[in-house]
Amino acid sequence: MTAGSGSVTIRAYGSLNDFLPRSRRQVEFTVSPGLPCPAVHAVEASGIPHPEIEMLLVDSVLPSPPAFVLDVHLGKLARILRLTGMDAAWPGSIDDDRLAEISAAQERILLTRDRWLLRRRAVVHGYIVRDLDPLLQAEEVIGRFGLRPFCRPFTRCSRCGSRIAPVEREEILDLLEPLTKLHYDEFWRCTSCGRVYWSGSHLPSLVGLLDRLGIDPGADQDLAGGGPGR
Ligand SMILES: [Zn+2]
Repeated sequence: MTAGSGSVTIRAYGSLNDFLPRSRRQVEFTVSPGLPCPAVHAVEASGIPHPEIEMLLVDSVLPSPPAFVLDVHLGKLARILRLTGMDAAWPGSIDDDRLAEISAAQERILLTRDRWLLRRRAVVHGYIVRDLDPLLQAEEVIGRFGLRPFCRPFTRCSRCGSRIAPVEREEILDLLEPLTKLHYDEFWRCTSCGRVYWSGSHLPSLVGLLDRLGIDPGADQDLAGGGPGR
């Protein structure tokens, strides 16, 4: 929801739509409470009972970084979100019910371009990505959920989304190409899938991508920029 001058824009997710008249389900609508009041009262005035509200996004600013799950068509967006440090699960080609289950069970916001998918009752938190270009999609999601303060670039594996951690060169030496062994001393490894990362030649392009998203690569920019086959 977003608050404007005397009016509040609301959009309900999941079963909260059951409390709304048909014309207000799954879409944004504006109410004018009149006097200034807490956001939750404005939502209640629209017909949604207070106890039913699990999470209220005011001006789309969240108190802690959200986790996401993305549908099969948003693989590139998932990789960009992981580059920024966001927890972005991308289970690939699974059926819609399973995707909704993951979203609910793991409290992940479901990102999709499929309006029908978000209409499933099991989907509590979801967002329809408007743009078609992955970079613009990332910009859209980052802006929509106010993610910039939570971004920690180069802290997650681009392949599986888990955290990466520094690893001793000796431990992964046999996994490296001869030239990589020669030119790099610092390495990181995914704590889940084991993929190895180092500050390769592609790092400037990744930093450029973060820059376009308005994200400071930060003091960690000399950290792992990617790995084999990135
Ligand atoms: Zn991994």
